[in-house]
Amino acid sequence: METFKFYSPEQEIKLPLFKEKEVRVFVKRDDFIHPFISGNKWRKLKYILKSAKENHKNTLVTFGGNWSNHLLATAAAGANFGFHTFGFVRGEPVKNPVLALCHTFGMRLQFTSREAYGDKNTLYKQFFEGNPDSVFIPEGGYSREAMQGCAEIAEEFDHSYEAVFCAAGTGATAAGLWQGIDSHTPHSELHVIPVLKGGFIPSEIKKLGVDPKNIFFHENYHFGGYAKTKPELLTFIQDFVSQTGIMIEPVYTGKSFYAAYDLIRKDTFKRGSTLLLLHTGGLTGFLGMYEKFLK
Ligand SMILES: *Cc1c(COP(=O)(O)O)cnc(C)c1O
Repeated sequence: METFKFYSPEQEIKLPLFKEKEVRVFVKRDDFIHPFISGNKWRKLKYILKSAKENHKNTLVTFGGNWSNHLLATAAAGANFGFHTFGFVRGEPVKNPVLALCHTFGMRLQFTSREAYGDKNTLYKQFFEGNPDSVFIPEGGYSREAMQGCAEIAEEFDHSYEAVFCAAGTGATAAGLWQGIDSHTPHSELHVIPVLKGGFIPSEIKKLGVDPKNIFFHENYHFGGYAKTKPELLTFIQDFVSQTGIMIEPVYTGKSFYAAYDLIRKDTFKRGSTLLLLHTGGLTGFLGMYEKFLK
C-alpha cells in the first residue's frame, strides 16, 4: 500500500521557565500529519492498513467512545485508502462534531449499549461473522502493528534527546515508541503520562512485550481521570497555546505537556538537557470541552 508523505518537524519552543532551568524543549509535530488521521493514530493505523490491503480486506471494523480520535482516524483513513469503515460507538445514540465527521468520511456508526460494548468479539461476530472482507481493529488500535508504526517516530528524531514525553491511553504508542528509542537512541529516557486513573498502563505495556521497568511513568497527571480537567490544567493550556501558537487539548496533549512542564519546574532534568514533547494530535478533543475555555 502506498501511504502518504507527511511532515512532522521538531520545533523548539522557548518559554521563560526553560531559559531559567537551562533546558531546550522541542515539540514533535505529529499533529501536522493529517487533520483527522491525526498524530499517533496514523502511526498506529499504518501497518494495520498495510496488512489489511495485503490480505485483500475491504472493510475496517473498530470501536470507540463518541469523541474517539481513533474512530475518526479510521474513518478518514478508510476514505483515503479505499476501505469501507464501520464503527461501534459506546453508549446511547448522541450527536457531536466527531461523529458527524466520521459519518461524513463514510463510516457506518452503530451505537452499542455499554454492556454489549464490553464484549467486542461477540459484537464483531454478530455483525461480521463469516465475512471474509472485514478486519477487526481493536479499540484505540492497541496492537503489535500499532507499535511498529510508533517505533518509527524515534527514527525521525533530529536531535539527541535526554528525555521524550508522551501521553498514554492504551499504552500502545508508548510501547512502540520505547522500542524505537531502544534501537535508535537508547540513551533517551521515555516519560509516559497516563491520562486515565488506575495505574494500569505499565501492565498494558507489558502485555505488548515491553518491560515497563525501562519507562518512567507519571501517574499523578490524570486530573481526576479520562477527559476530566481541573482549573490549573485549563489555565496551563490557555497560557501554553497563547505563548507558543501550538494548539493542545485537555484530554491527552494538555496533560502530557503539563506534566513535562511541571517536572522541569521541579528540576527533574539536568541543566543543558534537550527534551522532546510528542504532540500526538487529537485536537478535535478540544471541541468536546470548548465551553470550559469560555469563562
Ligand atoms: C489516542 C491518543 C493517545 C493515546 O495513545 P495510546 O497508544 O492509546 O496510549 C495520545 N494522544 C492522543 C492525542 C490520542 O488521540
